[in-house]
Amino acid sequence: MLATVLLQPENLDKILADLPIEADWIGLRWVKVIDRTRSARDGVPQTNGNSINSGVMVEVIVNGQIGYGSTNLLTPAGIAAAAQAAHQQASATAKYHLHTWSITQRPKTTGNYKSAQANSLDSLSVAAIDELLIKICRSLKVSDQIVQTRAMVNTKEIETFYVSSNGSSIYQQVQLLVSDYGATAQAGSITQTRSNGGMSSHCYQGGWDYLDNSSLWARVQQIGSQAVELLTAQECPNTTTTLVLDPDQMLLQIHESIGHPLEIDRILGDERNYAGGSFVKPSDFGNLTYGSPLMNVTFDPTVSDEFASYGFDDSGTVAKREYLIQNGQLLRGLGGADSQARSGLPGVSCSRACDWNRPPIDRMANINLEPGESSFVEIISQVESGVYMESNRSWSIDDQRHKFQFGCEYAQRIENGKLTETLRNPNYRDITPKFWGNLVAVGNAETWKTYGSPYCGKGEPNQLIWVGHGSPVAAFANVEVFGGN
Ligand SMILES: [Zn+2]
Repeated sequence: MLATVLLQPENLDKILADLPIEADWIGLRWVKVIDRTRSARDGVPQTNGNSINSGVMVEVIVNGQIGYGSTNLLTPAGIAAAAQAAHQQASATAKYHLHTWSITQRPKTTGNYKSAQANSLDSLSVAAIDELLIKICRSLKVSDQIVQTRAMVNTKEIETFYVSSNGSSIYQQVQLLVSDYGATAQAGSITQTRSNGGMSSHCYQGGWDYLDNSSLWARVQQIGSQAVELLTAQECPNTTTTLVLDPDQMLLQIHESIGHPLEIDRILGDERNYAGGSFVKPSDFGNLTYGSPLMNVTFDPTVSDEFASYGFDDSGTVAKREYLIQNGQLLRGLGGADSQARSGLPGVSCSRACDWNRPPIDRMANINLEPGESSFVEIISQVESGVYMESNRSWSIDDQRHKFQFGCEYAQRIENGKLTETLRNPNYRDITPKFWGNLVAVGNAETWKTYGSPYCGKGEPNQLIWVGHGSPVAAFANVEVFGGN
């Protein structure tokens, strides 16, 4: 009942006006998350997860220092207690501050944002979702060699109200859909798993259309068949060659070797005791050649169905598309208003909190590799000898985001400009600037796809947040590829 009362923005405004504290600035961020998960294994329903969670974060600026207090006691008294805790924290730590913050980092902003909802989440009943997942499991079992099948969906409906003492008023409503399915095949001692990209892949803002559509059953059939096909495939060779990556692997490549190293709080040292450094230095912005001239990377929270789109970040900054890297040159970092003020570096609208009980920090939203000119056929036809890989299955990257190693589920050999035999257990490793410097072909808009992940982890206490990555097919020269688990 109390949460329902707070759904009215004027109530949050009144609570803000009545708070019993004196501060240079106060912001209230009310968050409500409805989270549902359903899954099936071998055609049997496994998970029936359903949670509703709401609370308020109070942020204050006192004596040039920021303080936070949060509560899920959604009464004026509960929020007043959180405000007093925030005030006390800011007052007590002001003498140790890293930077003198001011209202300049929290300009007045008003507006609304709502996910484009192609098909409401209410359009499928719980029984219909279970039926769909069971049917996907059964359809994945294309052979007796398939020993396990699975399918899952997770939906989140997230509402936020943000009001501040200098007149900000922002309402946002986001609808997220995550889905995955996969099959494991076995023959003797050989086991191979093929999925629709894993849970960090098919992630969208929108409704059931993103799972239950005309291409679903052909793809389910293909995933089952490829799991069986991998059992008799050749091991990926150990060689240095041209590597062509599908967008469903590019998403993690972009995430780990562009997104994380460009986070300005990480560059300033905030994440060090969480294995979170970066090879990028503050002086690199505007100077570093990050990759080949074909490399154009944007921060773009404005793509309508991409997973991490929004109208405003959690510090109230208006979301805007910006080039992080243009023609291979590093231009700006992933730093919100606070990191921009601290570092003096150009940033983006990326202050994000995963929930009501976490402060906003520098996060990725949608980080995209922009499309180039080549069709998929043109890219493959230009490769004399190489390997094409799809769908991430493992990753490892050092704490400076410099050396990395990724494994994929499925690969094909490229010989004389054509895709030939299937390869199993494909992996590759490289060094970030060398790898992006060897970007030799970028697919056109027809090869461009958006994916995402609900599991980007960062911060202490930990925050898991949803991120989106769009990419075309891309080709890289002189990459070390190798086989094995
Ligand atoms: Zn991450």
